[in-house]
Amino acid sequence: MTTTAIRNGFCGAIGNTPLIRLTTLSEATGCEILGKAEFLNPGGSVKDRAALGIIEDAERRGLLKPGGTIVEGTAGNTGIGLTLVANAKGYHCVIVIPNDQSEEKINLLRAMGAKVRPVCPAPYREPGNYNKIAARLAEELPGAFWANQFDNRANAEFHYRTTGPELWEQTNGEITGFATAVGTGGTLNGVARFLKERNAAITTMCADPMGAAMWSWFRHGHLDIDDGDSVAEGIGQGRVTKNVEGSPIDDAVRVPDRIMIELIYHLLEHEGLLLGTSTGINVAGALKTALKGGKGQVIATVLCDDAQRYLSRLFNSAWLRENNLLPERWGLQRILDEINGLD
Ligand code: PMP
Repeated sequence: MTTTAIRNGFCGAIGNTPLIRLTTLSEATGCEILGKAEFLNPGGSVKDRAALGIIEDAERRGLLKPGGTIVEGTAGNTGIGLTLVANAKGYHCVIVIPNDQSEEKINLLRAMGAKVRPVCPAPYREPGNYNKIAARLAEELPGAFWANQFDNRANAEFHYRTTGPELWEQTNGEITGFATAVGTGGTLNGVARFLKERNAAITTMCADPMGAAMWSWFRHGHLDIDDGDSVAEGIGQGRVTKNVEGSPIDDAVRVPDRIMIELIYHLLEHEGLLLGTSTGINVAGALKTALKGGKGQVIATVLCDDAQRYLSRLFNSAWLRENNLLPERWGLQRILDEINGLD
């Protein structure tokens, strides 16, 4: 039986996610603040899209043979997406993950059937970096394919073909702004390129956590400013990846973790949405766009994953205290005032 209401398997269930109006934020700003519910993808995050895009592209190019092995370095969500797409399509998955990522994500990957290799965190320039280890592993394993999410443009292309058009259609072409953070840059690049081609007047905003260099890149054209630190997972980029290259971005904002935490708790307690750390940064970016451009805008952002993946951190008072992030429950007006003051 085929009807348009039935999605074909795991892969067919990826994408076409709801666009949720964030009611308290929309009312407070006089803008429509809309969250693309990527946590409702079947693997639970926005990275299901990149995983499917990369695997389908590798199949088309003959890089992945039936029964083959996919190797990837990932902070978690891409690994989860890749492992589930691999299961659905008959491939194996080896995931190299920095051992400072949440235990929930590592346990999930193992439960899903990936071979997980936790490694010590190391900067990109060092051979011990998790991506470099994944690349070497893929060379050594016979018939293995390195997904290379950071520099494989199949990632951004999938967002250009799916997430961008969905946002355009779901807003009847009335979208005026888009904000998101950068992990690989796939979401930012694919969506921003598609929307700008439809309407060059749409404002595109990069929301950056502290310790990353994308704010510096989009605002000043160099990577020199990357001070501070963030507990946000899945985002925080220090180089211009192939997926970041050529992104048509108008503006950028740096969002401290304190604002991210206050937003995460606000979204949970006042909107009923239990969302992960990167979503706090993204929503702050959407609010910055609202405050800068004034009332009447239609601004979309990405609700990347839900906080079940981070319970041992985000909802654990010992961990929050250690990181000086116990929520103070500022209230929405103070959150908006603080975002207004961000550069
Ligand atoms: N949020 C989370 C939770 C993620 O796992 C990722 C992907 N690493 C992102 C945001 C960023 O998405 P992208 O890789 O498309 O920049």
